[in-house]
Amino acid sequence: MRRKGEDIDAGNSEAHARLFLDELTGHGIQAPSLVAITHWHWDHVFGMSALTRIPTIATEDTKAGIEALKPFSWDDDSLDNRVEKGIEIEFCADAIKKEFPIKRNIRIVLPTITFSNELTLDLGGVTCVLTQVGGNHSPDGLVVYVKEEKTLFLADVLAPDLYASEWKFTPEETIKMLDRIEDYKAETYIVSHWKPITRNEYLQETDFLRRTAEAMLEFQGEETAVRRALEENNGSLSEEESRTLQYFINGWKKE
Ligand SMILES: [Zn+2]
Repeated sequence: MRRKGEDIDAGNSEAHARLFLDELTGHGIQAPSLVAITHWHWDHVFGMSALTRIPTIATEDTKAGIEALKPFSWDDDSLDNRVEKGIEIEFCADAIKKEFPIKRNIRIVLPTITFSNELTLDLGGVTCVLTQVGGNHSPDGLVVYVKEEKTLFLADVLAPDLYASEWKFTPEETIKMLDRIEDYKAETYIVSHWKPITRNEYLQETDFLRRTAEAMLEFQGEETAVRRALEENNGSLSEEESRTLQYFINGWKKE
């Protein structure tokens, strides 16, 4: 995704990152002068090694997450082995095999610039505020707010923790993250793997997350009571809402 002068995330492979840079050139748009990395997951960092002349910026926690990938090999056997040991998850191992069907020339590169918590970048007429909001998906989860455009890049922060034995949300972490995001009264929200949404759509999306988190705390994770409370408000839960509730139930069980 491109903002003037800055790019967000490096994509899931060198090929992907190069394709993106080529498309920019093709459209007469300058290559970004800086790339912000939102979290350490493979599909956001494997493209970094293609960005040889562009500095990358990330939180200290993201750097640590990327650093932990360095010793790994990425052939099928190594991936399967890590899935077996619970270090990697099948969901990502399968996606990596798909993205790199033949040659898996993955080089893990660390971010050039790191910071903690929050950082403001003045790119000349465009101000970006980078904030680590955490969340269950990845504790290093970073959002990028473009002030002048009132646009907030959420990356994956609204997704559950996929690295747990069962996908999960926890109420405390969810509420804390949503509160931090609420500090920005953005007009447009951009969610990775989806599309730009308006503030109203964002509120609709997150309203259920927040109410489920609150009901989990109120009823101490008692599923029937939580479901009843949610249904009083919503009517019967949609498939997606039931899935969200299930992630909270999974998160309530002690791992
Ligand atoms: Zn992710």
